[in-house]
Amino acid sequence: MHAVTFTGHGDTDVIEYAEVPDPTVGPEDVLIDVKAGALNHLDVWVRRGLPGLDLEMPHVPGSDGAGVVVETGENVTRFSEGDHVALSAGVSCGECEFCRRGQYPLCVSYHVVGEHVPGVHAEYAAVDQDNLIPVPADVDWTTAASSTLVFQTAWRMLIDRADLSASESVLVLGASGGVGHAALQIADYAGAEVYATGSSEAKLRYAEEHGADHVVNYEEENFADWVRAETGKRGVDVVVDYIGAGTWQDSIKSLAKGGRLVTCGGTAGPSPQTDIPRIFWNQLTILGSTMATPGQVDDVMSLVWDGTFEPAIRDVLPMSDTGRAHELLENREGFGKVVVEPDSELE
Ligand code: ZN
Repeated sequence: MHAVTFTGHGDTDVIEYAEVPDPTVGPEDVLIDVKAGALNHLDVWVRRGLPGLDLEMPHVPGSDGAGVVVETGENVTRFSEGDHVALSAGVSCGECEFCRRGQYPLCVSYHVVGEHVPGVHAEYAAVDQDNLIPVPADVDWTTAASSTLVFQTAWRMLIDRADLSASESVLVLGASGGVGHAALQIADYAGAEVYATGSSEAKLRYAEEHGADHVVNYEEENFADWVRAETGKRGVDVVVDYIGAGTWQDSIKSLAKGGRLVTCGGTAGPSPQTDIPRIFWNQLTILGSTMATPGQVDDVMSLVWDGTFEPAIRDVLPMSDTGRAHELLENREGFGKVVVEPDSELE
């Protein structure tokens, strides 16, 4: 079969669409005929190499994908041949103290399919049944393949970690980005007043059409000054910041007294300047979040499957064009999810 692979870290030219051995199906595994996968910024980090990430090469990337079950291992109880499934990429041990409390994303050996272990951007993938969720047959493959990672991440950030309520206000940075566009829709669904930032007219129109009550172009105006002006100097209750470097201090400045800043990453850099006086005087809370529990995944994905939430799709490319998919993400060309399909599916 063919799979997206790379044999070393580096620029996009390390990516190949190569012939690889068919996956072996373990007793807990489900073999999937992959119909589509989607890229996340994580795929770019993994390709470039991350500190402490020691991958078996060649590595098959892909932390989002969906397809049809074609074979099941002997212990698989949740799926049978012909089922439509999507990957939910977080892997937890089930045995550590955090897993015992149901806090799977806090697992001491937590890892992610496609990041630490082989992913699903291939014609076929063998995946542990615990990492699959059922997809209704009427959901299209691009939606099925592009939603689980960003929607579960944004759901846990806002609904669980930030404990958002309907009377509150939320600022979503980069509201057309992967996690951003999911957070925007979830904040609106939760009943909050939603403030959103973007860098182009098209991105701001998208944000307005998907739940933002107030939008600003952060390249034309400082967003913290804008938030304070829009809220009569009060600030917002919650800020969703996955950008990090360059936005962190303005995110803190945008918060009302007692506000919460919730982060799931730093796509623009990991070590921003911070503002300790403002954090203690205004009694702010900084909340980290990553992925979600299986129950949270079920909650948010039921709202994707019924059409309440919808992923923005930037482009659909053949898997052999994955290098181009990385460029779209790295160069911030357009917005929304980049979907890749096995070349054989496009023939
Ligand atoms: Zn664990």
